[in-house]
Amino acid sequence: PQEPVADIALIGLAVMGQNIILNMNDHGFVVCAYNRTQEKVKEFLETGAKGTKVVGATSVEDMVGKLKKPRRVMMLVKAGDPVDAFIKQVVPFLEKGDIIIDGGNSEYLDTIRRVKELSEKGILFVGSGVSGGEEGARYGPSMMPGGNPEAWPHVKDIFQSICAKSNGEPCCDWVGEGGSGHFVKMVHNGIEYGDMQLICEAYNIMKDVLGMNHDEMSEVLNEWNKGELDSFLVEISANILAYKDKDGQPLVEKIRDSAGQKGTGKWTAISALQYGMPVTLIGESVFARCLSSIKDERTLASKSLEGPDAPKFDGDKKAFIDQIRQALYASKIISYAQGFMLLREAAKEEDWKLNYGGIALMWRGGCIIRSVFLGNIKSAYDKNPQLENLLLDDFFRDAIHNCQKGWRKVVSTAVEMGIPTPCFSTALAYYDGYRSERLPANLIQAQRDYFGAHTYELLASPGKFVHTNWTGTG
Ligand code: NAP
Repeated sequence: PQEPVADIALIGLAVMGQNIILNMNDHGFVVCAYNRTQEKVKEFLETGAKGTKVVGATSVEDMVGKLKKPRRVMMLVKAGDPVDAFIKQVVPFLEKGDIIIDGGNSEYLDTIRRVKELSEKGILFVGSGVSGGEEGARYGPSMMPGGNPEAWPHVKDIFQSICAKSNGEPCCDWVGEGGSGHFVKMVHNGIEYGDMQLICEAYNIMKDVLGMNHDEMSEVLNEWNKGELDSFLVEISANILAYKDKDGQPLVEKIRDSAGQKGTGKWTAISALQYGMPVTLIGESVFARCLSSIKDERTLASKSLEGPDAPKFDGDKKAFIDQIRQALYASKIISYAQGFMLLREAAKEEDWKLNYGGIALMWRGGCIIRSVFLGNIKSAYDKNPQLENLLLDDFFRDAIHNCQKGWRKVVSTAVEMGIPTPCFSTALAYYDGYRSERLPANLIQAQRDYFGAHTYELLASPGKFVHTNWTGTG
């Protein structure tokens, strides 16, 4: 038998896998590389991994034989069937206590199933969200591992070495049991959809209400990026707005306004509906992409459907720009509050013990939604790990209070001028709903009782459900 030399095996030599291997190698770990298509192993050893300590394997058996115990096998392959196929191939060569890690974009329900199935065989399974694309994988991704908690001590060192760091702290910590790692990654992607749409709404208002040019808009975003909105997405949006095509015109205006999506935002919205949580902003951001993508139909509609006869904006432009910033910031707070509500509810139903501050820290660096703001969320959960809702934290409550006047002004101006702001608006509607002791749901209950005898609960006698014959004489 051969001498075990490798600290970890990595299956999947596409862009993510190769970069994670090189990242692990940089941090002193010996990685055994394997891929379904064998030529890629050879090619990788002769090119990207040349001069490193990376070793290759010619079969799954060969790969497992090269691993120190407990054996760690990480996969970065296409989500879905390939993950199950590799588990099936690897398991016969493993022993109790060995670890399989899935670093791909798997659905969390699959991960829940895999953790369970493998734990029955004594194999520890970890489903880890990995965010930050190729660049992150190579130099420091945000990593969100969850699954069988017994695995964590055996993968912690590798993961916390290769991940991004924020103020010296690793953007990777144990998320929780079952599919929680992949669930948190999914919510992260949903939040990314929301953050992107919010910036788009700010851009749309600056362009169509204030008539600003692209250099001016870029400058505004650069300014915002120095304060509480300091984030990767604001930074790249400023760069995009300033970017000129060869003819000197802003390139962004030449791009067809039809947004693509791979589905993780949609999954977040679907699971929000399934868990019954009002994650309205992510939902609207997914729908905004859907609406954008029926471009031909919109073009037709634009020729026949009229908007308001809006007066030109004649207010204080500088003040209004700051109000747009306030609308963006307040809406962003709502989006994260909603995202964490979803995490909380899923944790309750799935029986996960989630570390919410740790999750904020994992997103603080290495990924697309990295921002200063996540540090504030971490602080809120440090102050109160049981925090019911981010809006109830002093810092965020005060921030919303400071923004709300501007936020309302921006939404009402956009409404008057016929400019769509689905996420600014839904965030405001959620805020006003959340802070209302009384909502009109009493009438819904009466309607349900009227047509379906569903009964209603009396305010004065909690727990007491009654039915009324609404068409009777009383
Ligand atoms: P990918 O294109 O998603 O997957 C390619 C890898 O999967 C190759 O190693 C391929 O092997 C293997 N594979 C595909 N179908 C297979 C099958 N039926 N059986 C066995 N192996 C199969 O690669 P990627 O972009 O590097 O992503 C890897 C994982 O990370 C995915 O789950 C992805 O969603 C996730 N992810 C990607 C990014 C990103 O920015 N790209 C970011 C975060 C997470 P062959 O070479 O033999 O075809």
